[in-house]
Amino acid sequence: MAKITTAPQSGTISPLIPREAFPLLANSDVAGRPVIYLDSAASAQKPAAVLQRQRLFYETGYANIHRGVYPLSDAATEAYEAARRTVAGFLHAAPSEIVFTRSATESINLVANSYATAFLREGDEILISLLEHHANFVPWQAVAQRHGFKLRVAPISESGDLDLEAFPKLLSSRTKLVCLTAAANTLGTVTPLQRIIPMAHQAGAKVLVDAAQAAPHGLADLQQWDCDFLALTGHKLYGPDGIGILFGKADLLAAMPPWQLGGDMIRSVRIDGTDYAEPPQRFEAGTPPIGAAIGLAAAIDFFRQVDPAAIREHDQRLLDYALDRLGDVPGLTVIGRPAERVGILSFTMEGIHPHDAGSLLGAEGICVRTGFHCAQPLMDHLGLSGTIRASFGLYTGSEDIDRLVEALEKVRQILR
Ligand SMILES: *Cc1c(COP(=O)(O)O)cnc(C)c1O
Repeated sequence: MAKITTAPQSGTISPLIPREAFPLLANSDVAGRPVIYLDSAASAQKPAAVLQRQRLFYETGYANIHRGVYPLSDAATEAYEAARRTVAGFLHAAPSEIVFTRSATESINLVANSYATAFLREGDEILISLLEHHANFVPWQAVAQRHGFKLRVAPISESGDLDLEAFPKLLSSRTKLVCLTAAANTLGTVTPLQRIIPMAHQAGAKVLVDAAQAAPHGLADLQQWDCDFLALTGHKLYGPDGIGILFGKADLLAAMPPWQLGGDMIRSVRIDGTDYAEPPQRFEAGTPPIGAAIGLAAAIDFFRQVDPAAIREHDQRLLDYALDRLGDVPGLTVIGRPAERVGILSFTMEGIHPHDAGSLLGAEGICVRTGFHCAQPLMDHLGLSGTIRASFGLYTGSEDIDRLVEALEKVRQILR
């Protein structure tokens, strides 16, 4: 009972954008209470504005693109290319440097199978870190095995930060690619890219930034990161699933061979050979996710209503609040204390398997993720069989954390 007086003296933290803007959250109900969605790091809920824009496109403007001899197809092509300009504006890139893919995973696979395969030689090194999502791990491991490149994995410190003493020592003239997450999906660690990217360039390497997790937390800006490639995924940025972004510097994209082949990426096809289109079309073989690209543009318009600094501040307040409240749950351990983190917290509960906790929380209407979080090498390093992860979005407020803590108490009573 003492909890009530000592708990949120600082008052409640409201969502940055009200839950009502997100139909699923507005309409949700588990046993008479609203769903508490603390799984935005896996995927974000969609604002009505995104759903409406997509619906309008399918109801009034839909046709396949780039073959427009009739007005509907012309208009669909224009809407798709306008979506590319929106993404370019968001990232401060040129539209020709923005490739639409199906996901961040596909964006990274594209660089691995096109850039790395074409420009790296046997013995060249690819440097990643222990904080990487499998999407920024497995493709590099596979191309390294296939072509005789060497994969190096930078360690992390006790706090869950990238080890900045070890990192520079792993860079050498053999390092040709450095592929790092901007924010780790498991521990929430923000990596100091503004320091690291110049070091990598100094060593002569190209840099790919995995911004899938950083972007929804207001951290994706090519004015701050002079990276060569950047991967994003639409569904974590309040947009539709099935759409991803690859940014690549113009000169690199221009030199890269296509990865997937087929229609829409060619200039001319003859029986004895094919000329490929210029980037970005060269990398968009087949019918792209047209409606999803348009939905992503709507999501970016929606997202840009909020100042990135306000998102960072909101995350920080929620983190402080959650760390404080979770600290009162007996047997609960938060994993990692990185110097800077986005709104993601991983924790364990003594004597309770994360999956058991997760299903009981689910029955209480609390959505969290449990397990390896697509980062098995990191979990192995930490000696954990998994964690419970709560992650925040624009619609998260301190009430969500209160409901989580209340449900965790219940879980503890049942499973202890
Ligand atoms: C989710 C995630 C990815 C992969 O995104 P997909 O949409 O599944 O392709 C890559 N990196 C990080 C850090 C992520 O959180």
